[in-house]
Amino acid sequence: MAQEDNFKKFVSHCKEYGYIFPSSEIYDGLSAVYDYGQYGVELKNNIKKYWWDSMVLLNSNIVGIDAAIFMHPTTWKASGHVDAFNDPLIDNKDSKKRYRADVLIEEHIAKIEEKINREIEKAKARFGATFDEKKFRETNQRILDCQLKIDDVNGKFAEALNNSDLQAIRQIIVDNEIVCPISGTRNWTDVRQFNLMFSTEMGSTSEGASKVYLRPETAQGIFVNFLNVQKTGRMKLPFGIAQIGKAFRNEIVARQFIFRMREFEQMEMQFFVRPGTELDWFREWKHKRMKWHQSLGFGSDNYRFHDHVKLAHYANAATDIEYKFPFGFKEVEGIHSRTDYDLKQHQEYSGKKMQYFDPEKGESYVPYVIETSIGVDRMFLQVISASYAEEEVKKEDGTSDMRTVLRLPECLAPVKLAVMPLVRKDGLPEIAENIIRDLRFDFNCQYDDKDSIGKRYRRQDAIGTPFCITIDHQTLEDDSVTIRRRDSMIQERVKTGQLKDIISEKVSIRNLLKRL
Ligand code: ATP
Repeated sequence: MAQEDNFKKFVSHCKEYGYIFPSSEIYDGLSAVYDYGQYGVELKNNIKKYWWDSMVLLNSNIVGIDAAIFMHPTTWKASGHVDAFNDPLIDNKDSKKRYRADVLIEEHIAKIEEKINREIEKAKARFGATFDEKKFRETNQRILDCQLKIDDVNGKFAEALNNSDLQAIRQIIVDNEIVCPISGTRNWTDVRQFNLMFSTEMGSTSEGASKVYLRPETAQGIFVNFLNVQKTGRMKLPFGIAQIGKAFRNEIVARQFIFRMREFEQMEMQFFVRPGTELDWFREWKHKRMKWHQSLGFGSDNYRFHDHVKLAHYANAATDIEYKFPFGFKEVEGIHSRTDYDLKQHQEYSGKKMQYFDPEKGESYVPYVIETSIGVDRMFLQVISASYAEEEVKKEDGTSDMRTVLRLPECLAPVKLAVMPLVRKDGLPEIAENIIRDLRFDFNCQYDDKDSIGKRYRRQDAIGTPFCITIDHQTLEDDSVTIRRRDSMIQERVKTGQLKDIISEKVSIRNLLKRL
């Protein structure tokens, strides 16, 4: 099945099975805003727990905070967001559609990269085991031409961004004959800057009210609390502050389901280090964060780093971790070496010292910062798109059937086990209820006694439940039950007393954390 069809199917699957609903759907929804349903919220909480524990539990020098969404408006002046948190936008005059000019250019580059990849795949098939990709890239004229184009666009793009030259950005779009995907024309407006922050008023009267912003990132709540945490926690450098919370951006183009939302959640950790050591820590966190993603078992080939060529003015190194979504490799997490920029800015704007006294060096300085910043919702999309599968299942009578299954990592699955009495009589429901009564302190359990066992299995597969426990008449005789595994569909008989150990061995978040 084409990747995009698959994507559409799992978007409707997410709705049908209580994972994600459009916000205020009865009023036809609100663009790029979504609600998490009964299973979605559990999966989201498990993702957050995996992240939080990997930061705060596994690192004695990382602590968490929970800062408010509203902050003093000067925060956003100091951080640069009021003046520079902009996206360049451009409209197509024929389709009346609005685009991010930088995204149009990046997509154009990605298309040329795809051409290169297709050439390589063709050559691989032709030459087989003797194929030397490096040599092929260096000598094939078509690839060299494509690479030249990419380098040319990249060079001009970086220069235009560095000079904040909107006319030059437009010229790249014109020169490369980039067309509107809807109208197919090149009838573009000028490029304009658009600030992404939402604002509102705080205070009861309009005269006394002041303009406040809904935070566009959680990081600033950490920076302004740097000294509070350092002093009250008696933290010594290097140390980190972690936070999970909502962020808001008035995105120009909000597409691709929960990939780009106007209200979303971030998990950010700012790691404060001695100046001069930041690039070593940057490498360390790059490695650690990639391991965190890959430990989920979705295949190492589906991840890559995208090192930034053009750095923000405050950064001296930056990379994205990209995951291969059904619509291509896209950023899930950013790792940035932000120097001492943010703390220094807050020091200047607030007039309060943001320094750390280093007892070993006997001097005070503003620490440098490494940031790891990941979107909860994008992580959710990674997990659920990697887990969604439609597959053929052979039945005992030789015929086959289709099943939709969410092969979620067991530790993240919303429901860990479903308990099912074979029939609704002979005391079987009571045994099922007793099992749940015992296991519900440890696991999220579900009771299901409707329809045939086959249908019940399919329902649980569709929400990703790793274990189904069936109670039958043999249970009455020897206290044994059938345990069926979601992925292999293998069933075995075990004693009820063994259930807790068998299940915890698979579903505990410890298993994931131990791999880090
Ligand atoms: P993009 O280039 O995709 O707009 P960004 O580079 O602006 O992302 P950051 O400011 O570095 O993103 O934010 C860190 C993380 O927050 C991103 O890697 C992403 O996972 C998440 N994120 C950012 N914007 C959104 C959004 N609009 N919706 C959902 N998640 C987001």
